Amino acid sequence: MNLVWFRTDLRVRDNMALEAALEKGGVVGLYIATPKQWQSHDDAPIKLDFWRRNLEVLELSLKTLNIPLIYCQVPDYSAVPDVIRNALSTWQIESLHLNAEYPLNEARRDARVISLAESQDVNVSVHHDQVLLEPGSVLNKSGAPFKVFTPFAKKCREMIYVPDSINTPAKSASPQVKPATISDMVEPSDIDWPDPNTNWSDLWPAGEKAANERLQEFCSNPITDYKQDRDFPANDGTSTLSPWLNTGLISIRDCWQQATSMHSGEGVETWKNELLWREFYRHIIHHTPHVSMNKAYRRELDKIPWRHDKEEFGQWCKGNTGIPIIDAAMHQLLETGWMHNRLRMITAMFLTKHLLIDWRWGEKWFMTHLIDGDFSSNNGGWQWSASTGTDASPYFRIFNPVTQSKRFDEAGNFIRRYVPELEDLDNKSIHDPGLFKPESYPAPLVDLKFGRERALAAFKK
Ligand SMILES: Cc1cc2nc3c(=O)[nH]c(=O)nc-3n(C[C@H](O)[C@H](O)[C@H](O)COP(=O)(O)OP(=O)(O)OC[C@H]3O[C@@H](n4cnc5c(N)ncnc54)[C@H](O)[C@@H]3O)c2cc1C
Repeated sequence: MNLVWFRTDLRVRDNMALEAALEKGGVVGLYIATPKQWQSHDDAPIKLDFWRRNLEVLELSLKTLNIPLIYCQVPDYSAVPDVIRNALSTWQIESLHLNAEYPLNEARRDARVISLAESQDVNVSVHHDQVLLEPGSVLNKSGAPFKVFTPFAKKCREMIYVPDSINTPAKSASPQVKPATISDMVEPSDIDWPDPNTNWSDLWPAGEKAANERLQEFCSNPITDYKQDRDFPANDGTSTLSPWLNTGLISIRDCWQQATSMHSGEGVETWKNELLWREFYRHIIHHTPHVSMNKAYRRELDKIPWRHDKEEFGQWCKGNTGIPIIDAAMHQLLETGWMHNRLRMITAMFLTKHLLIDWRWGEKWFMTHLIDGDFSSNNGGWQWSASTGTDASPYFRIFNPVTQSKRFDEAGNFIRRYVPELEDLDNKSIHDPGLFKPESYPAPLVDLKFGRERALAAFKK
């Protein structure tokens, strides 16, 4: 028998580990729930619920291939090797297949499992299914990793090969197998998932089909205007594919291939560049494990005297800052589990610059609320905004949230959607209500000029 250990790759189409296992013969699928680890990684309830719902769909899809999906539950990664040891011996596994995950804890967990499997003479195959190019393979002329995005992306484009057609395994692709019970095995309903919220499944439907439909819909038209539309949160001009991509409901190759085959032009190329940002941050955490340990990418910037003001941080979290675009964005996060990219940049920069609050606090808050919470992209985005990361925005380039609001939400439609108490303000004062502020709306938490100068002084020092 051959084992596929599913993690953030909950699909059958174009799943490298699954494809390789099917070539070997009978396949059994395994999912190991680790609730304590989820807690220590700040995984959001909305994200965990999305995993739960997607596992239900995966189980049905695997059934059509004759593959049973076995669930086990242990507290955290330290107990995972025991589960695998047990599975390998009880099911007489000949080969173990997994798709690599790159954050440090996951990489260490996998290294332990791989050496254990190899010590039991089980063939292990690790696939770089989450990325277009294997981390470590994209290097500059001196053989070193790229520290800046643009040359990294250029090099990737020279190297990327994506086949013209993407495969879905045929029905009954695996001979029937019947795995015996192992310890730590549970029914899916016994897993300690968070209590679901009924809105979540309407907002974010589960399954590969939903992911594919969204990709096709986006590629059918909106992608052509992506370059112009992507920065305007009221326009819904982006794909919103991130939750499905990060859970592995759709492959990165599928995204690249479908976008390329349906259109050409600036919209498509700009979108593919965003896929490469995702790629870049995965390569970064592979090359610089210290970013997975709460450290700044640029170590010298760990000296910045970040403020740890719980009161101000709390107002930012709740969307109570008195700066309408920030509050609207934070409400979007709380209500939907997702936030538009332009707003992630504006809110993160406001927290780390105007309030000078530690980027790690913001990183954690996003992670505990995002359905697409992904260590590498979240860490990369926060370090970019705080100017501590690779390719970081220079510390003196501080977005003024009111100027950003006027530029990217000119008519105030996004603000009106998420801060209804401001809906009657005109298109000018909605960005900065001043004297027109309704009583129920807070005054600005910080004077933007003061905040900017405080941040500049801290960075200069
Ligand atoms: C502070 C901050 C935190 C972030 N946290 C996350 C996170 O936890 N998870 C996450 O997936 N993205 C994160 N991002 C990146 C980006 O905001 C989201 O990927 C994007 O908003 C998802 O929306 P979309 O699917 O409509 O993207 P689209 O614009 O349609 O882009 C397509 C895909 O490209 C990738 N992508 C786009 N922009 C970026 C980017 N700047 N960095 C990395 N990948 C990108 C995503 O996978 C996205 O789904 C963060 C950005 C910032 C500034």
